[in-house]
Amino acid sequence: NKRILLKSYVTGFPSEDDMILTSATVPAKLPPGYTALLLKNLFLSCDPYMRSRMSKPVATSYRASYEPGSVIVGYGVSKVIDSGNPDFKVGDLVWGITGWEEYTVVESPQGLSKIKYTDIPLSYYTGILGMPGLTAYVGFNHICSPKTGETVYVSAASGAVGQLVGQFAKLLGCYVVGSAGSKEKVDLLKNKLGFDDAFNYKEEKDLDAALKRCFPDGIDIYFENVGGKMLDAVLLNMKVYGRIAVCGLISQYNLTQKEGIYNIMAILQKRLRIQGFIEPDHKHLYPEFLETIIGYIREGKVTYVEDIVEGIEKAPLALVGLFTGQNVGKQVVLVAHE
Ligand code: NDP
Repeated sequence: NKRILLKSYVTGFPSEDDMILTSATVPAKLPPGYTALLLKNLFLSCDPYMRSRMSKPVATSYRASYEPGSVIVGYGVSKVIDSGNPDFKVGDLVWGITGWEEYTVVESPQGLSKIKYTDIPLSYYTGILGMPGLTAYVGFNHICSPKTGETVYVSAASGAVGQLVGQFAKLLGCYVVGSAGSKEKVDLLKNKLGFDDAFNYKEEKDLDAALKRCFPDGIDIYFENVGGKMLDAVLLNMKVYGRIAVCGLISQYNLTQKEGIYNIMAILQKRLRIQGFIEPDHKHLYPEFLETIIGYIREGKVTYVEDIVEGIEKAPLALVGLFTGQNVGKQVVLVAHE
């Protein structure tokens, strides 16, 4: 049973060496009378929030830190290969919280859901049909209060969340611009994901000028994934009564000294609404979300881009690659075939 452990708490940018690949034996079957589940992990998800779990515990974090020397835990897709729990049977496919290892014993299955639609690629349950999908759905539809015809700007737009936000906004009839960190990603946004326009923020000397070029009349909605200098430039370009949904601030996660935001006057002058949100608060919307998104997938109304690496050994590098933009689309690790 190959497994990935956190070596020690991380400060600053994470590296592959902050995690260790080891192996341990796993029972082929659970002992009699045991109420746990034995899972064979098929896909593991790399998500930016996992970085905060690699830091020393802080009181303000809404997710507990990993223990150094323990297996990394995150979202994944798994198959039940033994079950002492009457709600799950051998062969069931599940998605939810599992270990970064080939096989996981789950004592209590609260973090797991049975997969309802198995004719869709199973990896989708780490992204479009899982946590990032619900984040995009809730963040755009519920937090941004969008209206047809409005102008929408999405940062980290080609990623797991951003690509869906942009497409939800297009489906509503908004004008949508995304930014991303390479020409390949900008082309993807414009040519495959249906964004009206896109730019490479790494090549823009002046972010304020780039936003003025894309939004001569201003931005109604900003879906914030990155923070820092981008947020400061966006504040100057928001329209009166604009809304900003703060989903993530990835440019700040690895900085020991966070960047300041200076254009705060714009919040008052433009009467902006800025609201942070976290997906775990909105889990009750998952059934509604699932039916909506399954419909969109079947009708070809959304496109979904994944970046799948093969082999659990590659998981640490894939995870840290999120912070340098190595991933093109949702970063997934294929551990085993069904
Ligand atoms: P992505 O698939 O978008 O991967 C992360 C991307 O962020 C990278 O590919 C990179 O793209 C970009 N990035 C990395 N570092 C920087 C930087 N310094 N400045 C600008 N962009 C950077 O990840 P997700 O879609 O899963 O997550 C997007 C955001 O949403 C994150 O901030 C995450 O924390 C947040 N999130 C929040 C949730 C919530 O409940 N509130 C739930 C899920 C995610 P590029 O090449 O474009 O730079």
